[in-house]
Amino acid sequence: MHSNLFNQPVRIKTCFLTLLCSVFAGCAGVPTGQESAVVTRVQMQMGTLVKITAVARSESVAQAAAAAGFAEIRRLEEILSTWIPTSELSRVNASAGVMPVSVSPETMTVVQGAIQAAEMTDGGFNIAIGPAVDAWRVTEGQRIPKEAELEALRPLVDLMSVHLDVRGQTIFLGRVGMRIDVGGIGKGYAADQAVMVMKKAGASAGVVALSGDIKTFGQLPGGKRFPVGIQHPRQEGSVLAWIDLQDEAISTAGDYERFFERDGVRYHHILDPRTLQPARSCQSVTVIAREGIWADGLDTGIFVMGVESGMRLIEALPDVEAIIVDHEGVVHVSSGLRDRIRKP
Ligand code: ADP
Ligand code: MG
Repeated sequence: MHSNLFNQPVRIKTCFLTLLCSVFAGCAGVPTGQESAVVTRVQMQMGTLVKITAVARSESVAQAAAAAGFAEIRRLEEILSTWIPTSELSRVNASAGVMPVSVSPETMTVVQGAIQAAEMTDGGFNIAIGPAVDAWRVTEGQRIPKEAELEALRPLVDLMSVHLDVRGQTIFLGRVGMRIDVGGIGKGYAADQAVMVMKKAGASAGVVALSGDIKTFGQLPGGKRFPVGIQHPRQEGSVLAWIDLQDEAISTAGDYERFFERDGVRYHHILDPRTLQPARSCQSVTVIAREGIWADGLDTGIFVMGVESGMRLIEALPDVEAIIVDHEGVVHVSSGLRDRIRKP
């Protein structure tokens, strides 16, 4: 069976399309009366449900733009998926401790972005986490690895041993057994790239949503922004807050999608690189940024950092906002968002 890059069951952290579809009955190529058509299409890609909405001057242009968006995500999946043995990242991982591997500019961009996200989040974000993610296998195995097993993996979770030669376009992992995992940033990047090709294909506006990683551009016909609902981390199916987006990306990292409980303790898929245990300081972190790569990279890293240093980081970054639900369920909203969110 074809498995996936990010290895998660299909659940949705945000729900913009439900609302969109109620605005544009049916959503499949509905002419809006005047100059534009809105098309929504859904496909399984990167192991998750991908929904693309395209707004264009005609239905055929909107359809072509949506198709171009899906094709771009598929292309990136083939480069970045660690479940495809021939992908660039799989080859980088297979050559760990042996030799550098040539990569495309796309892989270099994602890995460079990941290293920058690691610096910004004081190491909370760490793509060298791969071996620990495999040890937990939260979705499939529901096993709790022994402390000694995690201890043995610790030397492999070492970002300093991820060597990039940007000019030569190669990546080298310095130790045998190392594995990089871009599950915490790659979907945001894919959304950015899909938007780029959709614009080139003639879309005037649209949304690309890979589960909880969403990028919007332009406006809906009639000048409306794209409404997005942020999932409540402890009340399934209920919205914590609504926000309207334009030319912005939003991404949520939460402990409520891929998890299991044992003896009253929740074990989930975001690991603290220091302890190699599931990070404990938040229930969910939603980040809004201009680019999906930053919204996605920062949500996972801030989830690990926790609310205090996480909010400090957000307030210091221009054009980046966040809603953090801490481990007690208290909701923290960054200063630039307070006037923008609507309670359901
Ligand atoms: P998703 O939208 O798939 O839930 P997230 O942005 O929340 O993605 O990232 C979670 C994924 O990132 C995990 O499934 C794992 O592959 C990877 N990961 C887990 N912990 C970390 C970490 N501390 N740093 C970087 N990546 C991580
Ligand atoms: Mg992320």
